Amino acid sequence: MNLIILGPQGCGKGTQAELLVKQFNLAHLEMGAALREIAKEDSPLGRRVDETINHKKELVPEKVIDAVLEKWIGQIPAEQGTIIDGAPRKISQIDEVEGAFKKNNRQLDFVIFVNIPETESVLRISKRYSCLGCQARLILGWDFQNPTDPCPECGGKVEQRPDDTPQGVRKRLEIFRQETMPVIDHYRKQGKLLDINGMQSVEKVFQEILEKMNK
Ligand code: AMP
Repeated sequence: MNLIILGPQGCGKGTQAELLVKQFNLAHLEMGAALREIAKEDSPLGRRVDETINHKKELVPEKVIDAVLEKWIGQIPAEQGTIIDGAPRKISQIDEVEGAFKKNNRQLDFVIFVNIPETESVLRISKRYSCLGCQARLILGWDFQNPTDPCPECGGKVEQRPDDTPQGVRKRLEIFRQETMPVIDHYRKQGKLLDINGMQSVEKVFQEILEKMNK
């Protein structure tokens, strides 16, 4: 089984991808996280990716996405399924992603679209933190009470992503509307899209995904 999961910022697609990974033993590519790792590298590529994702808050060029995809997909055993979180994010990336699948004898089964309203995106992202130590995803006011508190899981330092400022989220939502919604429409026309209501508990969202996959 080969899946793609897409949705606006803060929709919970990362959490749902992790649940799908556990349920079906999938290999998981989180494109944003892979790019954030590249952005930490002290190299011309690292500096360019850092500038694009953390400062300009724009999409990185196609050739970088291509290189990440190729490197990742080539290492996965043929019998293992996959899930890609965060690509294709624009129409021109559809051929790249599907080309990488085809080259590795894989076929895309479903595109999961977890949707929430934009106001909810901004609200959720303003409370989204993660631990620099154990990488736990943490929600302010829920998992911990004060932005300066240590991680409740491991005591590590907790921080917000540099692109998770209100202005950064608005810019990324605009890109989602303009660039990624046409990708969603493309897969809806192909009959591969699973429309999922992200305004439910984590468990209910997961249940809806499983139900729609089984139909
Ligand atoms: P995310 O963690 O999914 O919010 O992604 C963080 C950032 O990484 C995005 O705002 C983009 O700058 C970049 N990014 C992630 N996925 C892609 C993609 N498929 N194409 C281009 N840029 C991407």
